[in-house]
Amino acid sequence: MVNRGNADVLIVGAGPAALFAIFQLGIYGFRCHLVDRLDRAGGQCAVLYPDKPIYDVPGFPEISGGELTERLMRQAAPCDPRFTFGRSVVALAATDGGAWRVGLDDGTPIDTGCVILATGLGLFDRPPGASAEELVPGPVAQWPLERNRGGIRVDPSTFQAAHVQTAQQGLFAIGDACDYPGKVKLILSGFHEAALATQEIRRHLTGKRPTVAYSTTSKRVRERLGRG
Ligand SMILES: Cc1cc2nc3c(=O)[nH]c(=O)nc-3n(C[C@H](O)[C@H](O)[C@H](O)COP(=O)(O)OP(=O)(O)OC[C@H]3O[C@@H](n4cnc5c(N)ncnc54)[C@H](O)[C@@H]3O)c2cc1C
Repeated sequence: MVNRGNADVLIVGAGPAALFAIFQLGIYGFRCHLVDRLDRAGGQCAVLYPDKPIYDVPGFPEISGGELTERLMRQAAPCDPRFTFGRSVVALAATDGGAWRVGLDDGTPIDTGCVILATGLGLFDRPPGASAEELVPGPVAQWPLERNRGGIRVDPSTFQAAHVQTAQQGLFAIGDACDYPGKVKLILSGFHEAALATQEIRRHLTGKRPTVAYSTTSKRVRERLGRG
């Protein structure tokens, strides 16, 4: 059993991929802590095009970046996520018991069972009112991770990332930050990646082979969403 420290799962970034990961992990009983340099959730949707209509989110013929963020936050709320805004994650290290420690730019350490890098195209250097030009690579770009086409290379069946200095498992990348054959940088890709990473995180944290729960029929899922 992996030592989970202060958070089952620490997610770097709070863009759409990260927000959907809160929900996916939450319905299986895992609590997430998200850290974002921005002062709010939503990543590119919230900062670059909050009022512009998006036409390719499944089930929504038209939705703005701001409304999508608000809906994702509402969907994630029953999963009781913790947010730290206005801080960057600057350090990552494997620790004892199969766990990870991330370091924030104010020196705060956070111990966690798993880390998801949902860092998108980088961090927003100057919120609020940032433009695409204010997206900078950020510290994660310097970390010793296997990369491809500028993205963090992942196994597309699990979304595990490989740290070149340790064989320790429990490190994942999803959303615009990751790369694999056929990767498309769209919001819906991040949702799919969050769902698949969740299944591997379940296996990693519990040591058990996961079975998928349907939200329509699982009593436990409904209870976790406060709809029991
Ligand atoms: C102008 C524009 C229009 C678009 N239109 C569409 C569209 O119509 N349909 C569509 O599907 N997609 C569209 N996209 C793409 C879509 O916005 C991205 O695919 C999506 O935002 C990726 O989500 P994400 O969660 O992976 O990362 P992001 O949204 O990039 O969020 C990543 C977050 O991580 C934070 N971060 C990064 N590094 C750190 C760190 N070290 N510490 C703390 N925080 C960190 C950043 O501050 C950021 O908030 C568009 C993109 C742009 C620029």
